[in-house]
Amino acid sequence: MLSNSLIELDREHLVHPVISWRGHEETGATVLEKAQGVFVTDSAGHESLDAFAGLWCVNVGYGHESIVEVAAEQMRRLPYATGYFHFSSEPAIRLATRLAELAPGDLNHAFFTLGGSDAVDSAVKLVRAYYNFTDQPEKKHFISLKRGYHGSSSVGSGLTALPVFHEGFDLPLPWQHYISSPYPYRHPEGEDPERVIRDSVAELESKVAELGADKVAAFIAEPIQGSGGVIVPPTGWLKAMRDACHRLDILFIADEVITGFGRTGPMFACEGEEITPDIMTLAKGLTAGYSPMGAVLLSEPFYRTIADNAKANAPVGHGFTYSGHPVSAAVGLEVLRLYTEGGILANGQRSAERFSQRLGELAEHPLVGDVRSRGLLAGIELVTDKTEKTKPPQELGIAKHLAKHGYANGVIFRAFADDVIGLAPPLSITLDEVDLMAERLTKTLNDIL
Ligand code: PLP
Repeated sequence: MLSNSLIELDREHLVHPVISWRGHEETGATVLEKAQGVFVTDSAGHESLDAFAGLWCVNVGYGHESIVEVAAEQMRRLPYATGYFHFSSEPAIRLATRLAELAPGDLNHAFFTLGGSDAVDSAVKLVRAYYNFTDQPEKKHFISLKRGYHGSSSVGSGLTALPVFHEGFDLPLPWQHYISSPYPYRHPEGEDPERVIRDSVAELESKVAELGADKVAAFIAEPIQGSGGVIVPPTGWLKAMRDACHRLDILFIADEVITGFGRTGPMFACEGEEITPDIMTLAKGLTAGYSPMGAVLLSEPFYRTIADNAKANAPVGHGFTYSGHPVSAAVGLEVLRLYTEGGILANGQRSAERFSQRLGELAEHPLVGDVRSRGLLAGIELVTDKTEKTKPPQELGIAKHLAKHGYANGVIFRAFADDVIGLAPPLSITLDEVDLMAERLTKTLNDIL
């Protein structure tokens, strides 16, 4: 009774992100009610294994009482403290310090946001300031990857290169440009990793040459493209692109909103390739979805350049009421403790081996063209002909159909570009739960054969 009326109210009043508004009026929402570990239960009492960690964010799993406790304690003591006007709070200070310790290289300065979109937006604004303050106002152009996702703000949506985020929104903006994804399975010259890397670097170089080296500000990329279809580049790609940016005298922004906090194995994907970007954007796993928060980490030279070149004593005009919110910061600190001292990062690394092995078994399935994963992040690309790598007809909506069917079978995963299913379970997932996930996924694929 209650859930039916809730679904009705949702239909009437709640505008959902990234769905068909008209379609939603017809179908309504699935209302989630509670969760524990890797399982979520909806208002009809149906339990599913959440193999997508909410929206690739609940990396520690659901139901951690220690996080609830620190949030409640912080709310009692000091629910809000502005970061404006030289005020600060202990959780924000400690979280910034902890991030400086954990992040690669000299990413020593954290600016806190509410999530990933405003982290990207902040990075773009600060890059503008960096060049304007150093008398290089011509350096305005940004380059990102086709199929990249960098959030939904009016600037970030243009760096995002997925049509649905552009159509009807007058995007991309004239200073936003794209190069091809490092996409081995669909690389025009074959899957040779060296070739994919070489072609990617060459395309960046020629895009910079086309725009003019003195006009390009930065290259932004996800170490593994998430919403574009979990596109896993060859090992070495990230380092090659960072090196190319240095050679080309443009800044390199690593958008680790998904890949940060153990998702690909190490704490950060950049650490896996032993590189330090000029700027790193973070969110999701930072608070594991228990409370909203994002961060922009700035390298020492980038930070120093703005600090030293901004007009003397003039404020750098960028900030949010909730920058460094003490409750989210306290949650973030506890989540970071769980990753390290709580063993969740190590558990994720252990479970990733079984995850990769079990998903690898699916490669033989007639509907599966490519299985790609790193750590606990995977994409399964669906085809109708394995040899020809034929994409399923768009109108079939096969990936969405599978995701719906999967839900009925008790496993949640995401459909992308309608031919890729994405998986990103909590890093707390056990080996038995990985097996259960794989069994339910296999059943779902077999059901629709
Ligand atoms: N950047 C990347 C790589 C993302 O995957 C996302 C969200 O999925 C964002 C930015 C935007 O983050 P948010 O949805 O928290 O604004």
